[in-house]
Amino acid sequence: VSSPVRGNNKNQLLARHDPERCARLLDAMQPVVLRRGVPLYEAGQRMRYVWFPTTAVVSLVFGVEDGAATEVIVAGRDSMIGAWEIMGGGSSPGRALVQQAGHALRMRQELFRREFDADPQLRELVQRYFLTFLVQAAYTAVCNRYHTLAQQLARALLMRHDRIAGDKIQFTQEMLAYVLGVRRPGVTAAAKKLQQQGLIDYRRGCIVVVDRGGLESLACSCYAAITGECTRLMTSV
Ligand SMILES: [Zn+2]
Repeated sequence: VSSPVRGNNKNQLLARHDPERCARLLDAMQPVVLRRGVPLYEAGQRMRYVWFPTTAVVSLVFGVEDGAATEVIVAGRDSMIGAWEIMGGGSSPGRALVQQAGHALRMRQELFRREFDADPQLRELVQRYFLTFLVQAAYTAVCNRYHTLAQQLARALLMRHDRIAGDKIQFTQEMLAYVLGVRRPGVTAAAKKLQQQGLIDYRRGCIVVVDRGGLESLACSCYAAITGECTRLMTSV
């Protein structure tokens, strides 16, 4: 799968907007640096901003009461964070956690909401994006039920690789276990398997994608299904 997300470091959601209106929006945005491990919002918390990542990658994670959780959405330069609140949902039951440090643009919720209400094209873009959110969530549920941990790991890595500039994914084994919702020994074994096949290299605090084609072959159909459907949704606006 050659992903159209890869190889472009601007925010692609904004790039799809009418250039003139987008320029006005950009004037009202602030560039921010997102640091790894920092939550943009916690479960049940109102979101003060909407964020448009350009190089950062953010994970939307939903948990159960004992603290265990699973990543449902990987959001990078193809995404916005805070759409839940813009769509009228108030606080989200999930949390947004920065996974790959990098840059983003942010805008206050109420300012963005005003633009959203006044601009039908922007509304259409955000609504389409919200559908891609559902697509990712649905396939993640299917994937977690039917596919092996190695396949899920390959999917999670490809989703990130699509959203970063190089091949270095900032990923500790703790974070991997957390986002995949499994115990650490399981994830260590799966990562080792990928490493032995020459697909990735595991270094302290990061995973280097060595053989992207090999990772794509190993990944289940969910990765291609997510990428294909999200691309269709966003390019047909
Ligand atoms: Zn799968």
